[in-house]
Amino acid sequence: MNAYQHILLAVDFMPGVENVCRRAHELAECTGAQLSVIHVVEPVVMAPPYEGVPSLPVDFEEQMLKSTQDSLKQLVEKEAMQDAGWSVEVGSVKWTIIEYAKEQNVDLIVIGSHGRHGLERLLGSTANAVLHAAPCDVLAVHIENR
Ligand code: AMP
Repeated sequence: MNAYQHILLAVDFMPGVENVCRRAHELAECTGAQLSVIHVVEPVVMAPPYEGVPSLPVDFEEQMLKSTQDSLKQLVEKEAMQDAGWSVEVGSVKWTIIEYAKEQNVDLIVIGSHGRHGLERLLGSTANAVLHAAPCDVLAVHIENR
């Protein structure tokens, strides 16, 4: 049996994302695992309009989702991951990744890690948060801080 059956790659669109994609893609090819790519959009809080402050268009969230889906599709194509399934989900980044992994029987989550130190580490990173709640293995791919 292969080491991994279903790998979940969690991506943002920040510098260094290509390395994280490449590592997940290589692993999926080596193990023959299914690869899924996820990006999570945090929900937009629609505050009531205040005088002088323009309110957001009613379909703002829909537009944002659509443009995020386009960006994710482009990233998947650019990184030659056409065989991978991909989806944009709305929710808390950490819990959405964890829930998706549970529901889809993911056995490895691949995530980027900036290797932060000191206060930044105490405040927590996505990689750290996911690692401590994950139902499966987690690979934190090092991202060079710029
Ligand atoms: P961070 O520690 O928040 O800078 O993010 C580290 C890693 O968490 C990124 O390289 C991604 O793998 C993952 N990540 C961060 N934000 C998101 C997001 N909105 N959706 C999916 N994965 C994310």
